[in-house]
Amino acid sequence: MIPIHNDTAAAMAAAGLVPGQSPAPLRLPQAATLFASRAARLRQLAEGHSLGDWLGFIATLSDAQQAVIQAAPSAAFPPAAQWQADLQALIGQLRSQVPEAALPTLEALALADAATLGALANRILGGTLDADDMLPAPFIMAAQQIAWTRHAASLEAASVAAPATAHSCPICGSAPVAGVIHVGTEAGGLRYLHCSLCHTAWHHVRAACIACGEGKDISYRSIDDHEDGARAEACDACHSYLKLLLAEKVPGAPNLDPIADDMASLALDILVSEENYQRIGINPFLLMGE
Ligand SMILES: [Zn+2]
Ligand SMILES: [Zn+2]
Repeated sequence: MIPIHNDTAAAMAAAGLVPGQSPAPLRLPQAATLFASRAARLRQLAEGHSLGDWLGFIATLSDAQQAVIQAAPSAAFPPAAQWQADLQALIGQLRSQVPEAALPTLEALALADAATLGALANRILGGTLDADDMLPAPFIMAAQQIAWTRHAASLEAASVAAPATAHSCPICGSAPVAGVIHVGTEAGGLRYLHCSLCHTAWHHVRAACIACGEGKDISYRSIDDHEDGARAEACDACHSYLKLLLAEKVPGAPNLDPIADDMASLALDILVSEENYQRIGINPFLLMGE
């Protein structure tokens, strides 16, 4: 057996991996860096992109999320209650940074009572948005992400049961934003599904549709004219699809962020939705109204 250097062992342990054992079923988020890394990735992807302004706006939001979680690394309440305090802190961070057109939305959120905010969050998380919910939605989702990510990061991976065919997040119950096919010696070729809310990743067997479990009727789509490493795994048994990000092929893959890279590959979603496949899970920053 090849001896493993202490630093490598420590890095593997931090990633939830144990040398010589099968890959971790669960990868918990790194709250100290996650949102700052996303902001950097979004700015990288925004250059020359048709959605560049929106990617840049979400980068500003991500930086503010990082500032909030750093200022309050532990929570006073469970995430379902804590997010409202995180929202107010987020608004405090954002007031001086958002375009003027976004200020009335921020001020309305700052003044809203807890019941109003709770009902708004339920509509957004439940996918039953009104037209008026579209403007506050990114801020609500950003606050929810802060609270749930802080919670997930505080857990021990070994204490969470994660079956290898879980189709929703073992920690918060959300559907995945995308699957990532990893590279490297430990997790190379494995598929992890990435939670859109608490940023936990969980291992899921490949070659089986995560919506219906069938493996016979799966095919893949990509945008032909450029290689961005994004594929749609489409299932003809249940007509759903999952976005897959192939770390081997994604340009700048060490910086890959499933939410950022999913946003930047929206053209692929348009392609497969024209074939009438339904997306599994949502991107919290690309929500559609009813
Ligand atoms: Zn989750
Ligand atoms: Zn299926």
